[in-house]
Amino acid sequence: MKVKLVKCSIAAPPSRLPGLDRAVNPYRGCAHSCSYCYAQDVTRSETSSIWGSFVDVKVNVVQRLKKELERCAKGVYGVGTVTDPYQPLEEKHELTRGCLSLLNRFGAKASVLTKSDLVLRDIDLLAEMEAVEIGLSVSCANDRIAGIVEPGAPPPSARFDALSALADAGVDAYLMAAPVIPGVSDSRQSLTALIEAAAVAGVVRVVWDSWNPKPIASNRLKKALNDADMRLGSSTEESTFRVRSELSELCGQKGMHLEDAF
Ligand code: SF4
Repeated sequence: MKVKLVKCSIAAPPSRLPGLDRAVNPYRGCAHSCSYCYAQDVTRSETSSIWGSFVDVKVNVVQRLKKELERCAKGVYGVGTVTDPYQPLEEKHELTRGCLSLLNRFGAKASVLTKSDLVLRDIDLLAEMEAVEIGLSVSCANDRIAGIVEPGAPPPSARFDALSALADAGVDAYLMAAPVIPGVSDSRQSLTALIEAAAVAGVVRVVWDSWNPKPIASNRLKKALNDADMRLGSSTEESTFRVRSELSELCGQKGMHLEDAF
């Protein structure tokens, strides 16, 4: 893993994602190494490097964010819109915690997305924040399959435990059921396992998204699946409609609310 300490010129640039006004990403690159991750496709950063083999740590992001919040703290701040804010290096650098502390101090709204139970380290802070929501992203509830497509991330079982602990602490936490990958996590059985695990964890809100095929990510995912004797299925309008309908039905059975991600 190549780790670089870098400085950013802006901590919270405007976000183009719906519902978010600004985006805070303390790390560039992500050690979770998800084979389907399209951050490289979107940012075009280090496209010749192996995804998961490099992380830039924005060491001044907290100081920069403070200056920006002193000017204006309006809107919703998405934390981890490109890369995971609770990837392993966060344990040492505590940049995400620093940014969340500032957002709390300035009364700004925060929307955090992660695949890591490291989020529980900050449960005290999150429980104290008045305007925060946490999404735990899970593509597939099966730890073995997740290990194939998300080799560097904590297993889904740990993420469901985190959801449960956050719900118990009164934090607004939801399941981000994404990406639902054709041939990997889109079967009725897989969707059922996902929603049942969420229900056991006390989740009341599920946001979902389908697999978004981009060139670099598609090649990486196909290779990871081939190495495991698995195959990527095809995504069609009908299959997406079927997945949404089944998720809606399964969520309805458990009294949970389903939303589309975008
Ligand atoms: S956790 Fe998110 S940012 Fe990190 S590799 Fe996986 S999909 Fe990409």
